[in-house]
Amino acid sequence: MLPTTHAIISWSISQPLQNRKDRIIITATSIIPDLDGLGVLFSIDFYSKYHHTIGHNLLFITLTSLVLSLFSKERKRVFLLSLISLHAHLLGDLLGSGTGWGIKYFLPFNEYYLEFAPPFHWELDSWQNLVITALLIIYVLRQGVKKERTIMEIFSLRLDQKIVQAIKKRLKCSAYPTMKG
Ligand SMILES: [Zn+2]
Repeated sequence: MLPTTHAIISWSISQPLQNRKDRIIITATSIIPDLDGLGVLFSIDFYSKYHHTIGHNLLFITLTSLVLSLFSKERKRVFLLSLISLHAHLLGDLLGSGTGWGIKYFLPFNEYYLEFAPPFHWELDSWQNLVITALLIIYVLRQGVKKERTIMEIFSLRLDQKIVQAIKKRLKCSAYPTMKG
């Protein structure tokens, strides 16, 4: 899946958390596994050898969740939601990243290679990814109305509040079109 889709999934998972910093931590987990692809900066060989390996296994996910929880307010919940979010990343990769992007979930203990087959496996630019992303955007808009926050809170509270106001204004206008005169 695209990084943006991964990010919205993780932000959605972070919603039970009260603290913005904790929600940012969980949203950040959406990109952490793919840091194992930074080898591309050195060589393609390095990239193909380590991408979808070092950061895409149970041990890495558990350790990452543990470390992240140490920097959070609600440690237990952040640990749990981080585990869920990182697993959502792996699931997203297995489902919607195209052929050849399986993972070795049990590394370094076991080399078992996991890869889904159709219909539980589709290309990056597929309609399935589009539908999932569209549904996630609807959820973000809903949170904007209900909780007065959107995924933009990750970058800027000011920008986030501007978007929240814009969503609310837009919804009010479409709900009462005749009142606009
Ligand atoms: Zn990944």
